[in-house]
Amino acid sequence: MKAKIRLHVDHPLAAGQTVGLSREQAHYLFAVMRLGAGDQVLLFNGAAGEWRTEVLVANKRNPVLECREQTGPQVSPPDLWLCFAPIKKARTDFIVEKATEMGARRIVPVLTEFTNAERVRVDRLQAHAVEAAEQCGGTFVPEVCEPVKLSALLESWPQERRLMFCNEALVGEDRRLGGEAGPWAVLIGPEGGFSQGERDRLAAMEQAHAVSLGPRILRADTAAVAALTLWQTTHGDWQ
Ligand code: SAM
Repeated sequence: MKAKIRLHVDHPLAAGQTVGLSREQAHYLFAVMRLGAGDQVLLFNGAAGEWRTEVLVANKRNPVLECREQTGPQVSPPDLWLCFAPIKKARTDFIVEKATEMGARRIVPVLTEFTNAERVRVDRLQAHAVEAAEQCGGTFVPEVCEPVKLSALLESWPQERRLMFCNEALVGEDRRLGGEAGPWAVLIGPEGGFSQGERDRLAAMEQAHAVSLGPRILRADTAAVAALTLWQTTHGDWQ
């Protein structure tokens, strides 16, 4: 058996089930990693846990793998969304990768008044989330949503979902995350921060809990990881 390769597939997984692969995945397995018939690959589909499969046909055009045994249960993260204002491309990629590793269930790019980002390519970001899940041993891939204006997002905000509003104006203040249970979302602003109008709008929302992330202003990508860490240790699956 060669190195443990993990791949995400959009395909049912069950004992004896045969599975095809995308062209890119077949290229990776058979041309890059030089796998052949009889080699083993771990697959997950976001719903059925992780499966050990065996390569039956090591063919780049029509590859076939077969599920042998389930090697791990399905583990889905707690009901946490990350809403963040996209920044520069590489830093936005970083945020999506880290949010996947940290266990966000949904990732929502949010266009705020001071957002200054290049075009957001959701398909690229979704591919980053898949890659991060493959590499971190997770069995769940968060959905990356189409970008939405902050005003529209807040307009239709679900009544039961609390919003951890990371407000840089509270830097250094003792405003910590509360212990209220239930679904949550983290909100991180852009490099320019939130406008006063946005802060007022958020202050008027009963679901919003404004928090400080300590005594220093963090870059947006650092703030996203710090906020997810804080939430996971208080409410999530790190407890
Ligand atoms: N330009 C802003 C300023 O100088 O005040 C800073 C914006 S910061 C780079 C980007 C985002 O990270 C903020 O909108 C906020 O969501 C979050 N953030 C950074 N540091 C924070 C802190 N100490 N407390 C709360 N949120 C913070």
